[in-house]
This record gives sequence, C-alpha cells and structure tokens, in this order.
Amino acid sequence: MKTKILTTSEKDIREAAGIIAAGGLVAFPTETVYGLGANALDAKAVGAVYEAKGRPSDNPMIVHIARASDIGQLTPMLSEDIVSLIDNFWPGPLTLVLKKKPGVPDRTTGGLDTVAVRMPDSEAALRLITLADCPIAAPSANISGSPSPTRAKDVIADMDGRIDAIIAGDDCRVGIESTVLDMTGEVPTILRPGIITAENIEAAINKEVKYDEALLRGAELTSIDPGAAAGSDAGEASAKDGPEAFRPKSPGMKYKHYAPKAQMTVIEGRRDKVKSEIERLKALNERLGLKVGVILFEEKAFIEAAHDFFSKLRDLDEEGVDLILAGAMSDRDGVGFAVMNRMLKSAGYNIARV
Ligand code: AMP
Ligand code: MG
Repeated sequence: MKTKILTTSEKDIREAAGIIAAGGLVAFPTETVYGLGANALDAKAVGAVYEAKGRPSDNPMIVHIARASDIGQLTPMLSEDIVSLIDNFWPGPLTLVLKKKPGVPDRTTGGLDTVAVRMPDSEAALRLITLADCPIAAPSANISGSPSPTRAKDVIADMDGRIDAIIAGDDCRVGIESTVLDMTGEVPTILRPGIITAENIEAAINKEVKYDEALLRGAELTSIDPGAAAGSDAGEASAKDGPEAFRPKSPGMKYKHYAPKAQMTVIEGRRDKVKSEIERLKALNERLGLKVGVILFEEKAFIEAAHDFFSKLRDLDEEGVDLILAGAMSDRDGVGFAVMNRMLKSAGYNIARV
C-alpha cells in the first residue's frame, strides 16, 4: 500500500478526513504521541488498525472526540465528577473510561462494556475529527510493542506502506500517552499514569483517586531482588498464574510494551551511586566492544523526561546500540512515576539496584 505523507494544512487535513470517513487509516499528531486513527464506529476500519499495528485484538482503543457533546454517542453515563473532569482537563491528556453505549462496536472496545474517551489538545487532531465527522479510534501509531512515536519520522519508520496516510506535523508536546482514568467503579482509578497526576485529578473532583493494582505491582518490582524482576511484566496474567491470577483492568497492561531493539537495564538507587554504576557498566561493556547508550535525565526534570523518553529510545536504536543503561527517576506518584512506568516496561522490568 502506498502511504500518502500529508501536512497539517487545511487542504491536507480535509483529504485525511475523507480517508477516515471512507473507512481508511490515517496517522495524526496529538499532544501526547502520534495516533493511528480510524472511524471508531466502523468495526471493519477499526479491525484494520489492529492489523496495521499487529496489536492484540483484546487491547481496546481510545476514542477521540472534538466536542464534549460528541460523548453522547459513546456513553450514557455522565456523573458530576465526569463533567468536572471534562471541564478541567479537556482538551488534554486525560482519557476517561466510561460505560459504553451499544452503538460502539465491540471491535473498538476489545469486547469490554466500557469505552475509553478523550479530547486531544492538538489543533490538527481536533480539525481532523471535526472534518471526518465521526469519533476517531486511535491507539499509538507504532508497531505493537515498539516505543510510541512522538515525531513524524517515527511514524513513517513504523507505518509507511501499512496505512493510507500520515499527517506529518510537529513533534508531540507531551511525549508520553494520556493518563487513563476508570470512572466506572466506586473509586476513580488510574489505569495508566500520565502527565495529569492523581493529585491533579483529586484536586479537580475533591475525591480520593487510586491506582490500579497492576501499576502498584510495577512499582513494587523496583524494590525487589533484580534477579527475580528480570523478564517479568507487571500485570501479566498468564495461564501459569492459575485461576486466582491477577487480572489488570486495562488489557493493554499485560502486553510487552515500548521495547527498544537493544537490551535495556534500569539502574535504581541513590543518584550519585546510579551515576557511577552507569559509568562503570558502560566502561565494562565497551571494553568488550559493545555499543552502549545511556538515558539519564536531570534529577527532577520529569516533564522533560516524559517529552524525551520515547524519542531517545528510538534514536539509540537507530544508532545501533547493543545495550541501554537508564537511570531510574524517583517520583512515587507524579509525572516521574508515569515516566518510570514506561521505562520499566521498556526494560522488561530488568532492574539493577545500587
Ligand atoms: P494506546 O491505544 O496504545 O494509547 O493504549 C490505550 C490504553 O487504554 C491501553 O492500555 C488500553 O488497554 C486502555 N484502554 C482502552 N480502552 C479501555 C477500556 N475500555 N477499559 C480499560 N482500559 C482501556
Ligand atoms: Mg500504544
């Protein structure tokens, strides 16, 4: 398939919208990462997204809308809390998991009776949705399992030849995916951390918010024996776990994610020790002739880390490094926690403590 590379001009977005309306696939920029979009109400088009990404079909998609009133097609339930969240955070990187209306295809929601919805804070994305005149289901525009694309060139590297068109816009401002908040239970629950934090959400609805157990298990892994952590994946509920197996609410949490081609290890501990351990391991491996890449952000520069993390992974892969050594970020529930969630998954929970 020949993939058209489009710009963010009105004419090009109009063309892209026509492709979506006709059941085709278009990648487009949002403020978080690039999305791979299809008409959310067209099961066949959504099926083609799974195919293009190589995404497991039980991993549901986020449905993107351009006006708050569009939510009426997707969900019947709008509580006071949901309305305040929409008022406070949309357009923006907060996805709400809500009860779904029967008109939303099972294909879009991975067979769940809930639907994940957000309004992106990106002019090009909002214009595309408006002109396509339908909600757009869009997972990240990468091959399933590889780092999320935050630049047009990342999308082209993964999707050229697999989809109808790519809107090649600016680099994404945020750099990690949206916070996913489940609003269908008793207590609002964060299923995926992002730059909108638990604290931000609590301040908006004046109510306690909790983290899904799968996320806390991921966090716990950082304080256990690294030997035991290597190769495991938080939230993975495999057959060997037996009938009591822990099942994550967000199906996406059980899959291998964001993995660079290089072998990756996260070094955790006191900052000075982390730095010297990275230096030591780098020198050691380079002596053997291996090419080593390092990811070490400024200590409290969480926003910058979120912005740069995925693009760094992709750049290091492009440089052909054999090994990536990454310094852990110490932030238990803020933006640094969201970055750590991606970093640990990228490394397959391969952690060394110092
Ligand atoms: P991505 O499309 O790559 O941004 O990933 C979307 C994330 O949202 C995945 O982790 C999904 O599992 C999660 N998600 C989407 N819809 C739902 C839903 N209805 N309930 C729970 N999690 C969802
Ligand atoms: Mg993704």
